[in-house]
Amino acid sequence: MNDQMKQMIQQTEQSLTKQFSQIQEIVTANQEKVLDAFQQVQVSESHFTPSTGYGYDDIGREKLEELYATVFRTEEALVRPQIVSGTHAITTCLFGVLRPGDELLYLTGRPYDTLEDVIGIHENVDGSLRDYGILYNELPLTESGKVDFSNLENAINHRTKIVAIQRSKGYADRPSFTVMEIKEMIDEVRKIKPDAIIFIDNCYGEFVEIYEPSEVGADLMAGSLIKNPGAGIAKTGGYIVGKEKLVNKCANWLVAPGLGKETGASLYSLHEMFQGLFLAPHVVGEALKGAYFTSQLLSDYGYQTAPTASDVRTDLIQSISFHRAEEMIQFAQMIQKQSPIDSYVTPEPSSMPGYEDDVIMAGGTFIQGASLELTADGPIREPYTLYVQGGLTYEHVKLAIVKSVIALNK
Ligand SMILES: *Cc1c(COP(=O)(O)O)cnc(C)c1O
Repeated sequence: MNDQMKQMIQQTEQSLTKQFSQIQEIVTANQEKVLDAFQQVQVSESHFTPSTGYGYDDIGREKLEELYATVFRTEEALVRPQIVSGTHAITTCLFGVLRPGDELLYLTGRPYDTLEDVIGIHENVDGSLRDYGILYNELPLTESGKVDFSNLENAINHRTKIVAIQRSKGYADRPSFTVMEIKEMIDEVRKIKPDAIIFIDNCYGEFVEIYEPSEVGADLMAGSLIKNPGAGIAKTGGYIVGKEKLVNKCANWLVAPGLGKETGASLYSLHEMFQGLFLAPHVVGEALKGAYFTSQLLSDYGYQTAPTASDVRTDLIQSISFHRAEEMIQFAQMIQKQSPIDSYVTPEPSSMPGYEDDVIMAGGTFIQGASLELTADGPIREPYTLYVQGGLTYEHVKLAIVKSVIALNK
């Protein structure tokens, strides 16, 4: 490491001491929460035993689901390697619960890109909610990126069955919503429609705060195991937690009516899913430190970052807006170059299924697409915002970001 790098790191870290000690507090609280849950449900080595075939009487799978329900303070959980991604987990919730004629309301504006086809927002995609006669409505955010409570009453009607809240901004240009803000949303919806089912897309949010949305009144919540709760070691999978009745509906849709939660071989996934959940608070803390570091350093170099280093955080996504598309692409390519895997590959913008604009995706990860590992991606559109997230170790993020900034300013 040369002197320039050392100095950049030292300066940046000096201005983040308060934030880092806050992260330490959150990590400790969440580690305690997770550890307590392991002890309470009595996980033992026998729960790591793989199951095959139908997966009947898979005691490990059942214990893992009990553990998730305990950590997230819900009645029930569905945690499966057969859930292929976050999008699939969310899709399972929507199709599991909604019936023809019901309406889905997104309270937090346009949802994450891949959900547009799931819902059938633009056209009647084969197999979308729209294709099944399920209606959709969304409440656009206000100019400052907040929920438009003044129009909430108009957006809810007698058909509204699920009110969906997306915690993390995803690829949108808006702040992510803290658990306190989500609580306020839930309370407001309940005033108008007490029986609405409140669904939370919790992707990227797990363990960033000391409470989860399921602890402040949400009915159903979903996320991906190749993001936060898998800690970078779960190789695939997703989770759904919430009210027992609702989670069982999701299981019926994921597997088959009548089979529900009783089947689904866990194969060799249990060990890493248990251990991943145990490690998750710590690894999320590493990624969070990296996100603060990124925000501070890039803003010192004149780029607009969101959140800033002084904002409250609720997810792992750090966005950086570049002045030109070329800068955005170069920075992403530098992140790739600083990765442990495929460091010699140069990512280029290209079209991706489920995304409207060309997308650049950088990050040489141990698990394909795992964005709890250091990755940088974003659709190539103004204001050329690159979304940087993850990092299994803070030190990796620090090295990669410093080297990328130096390359950019050459
Ligand atoms: C990542 C993400 C998703 C989708 O997850 P995939 O695993 O990529 O399908 C949905 N919503 C948000 C907010 C996300 O960050």
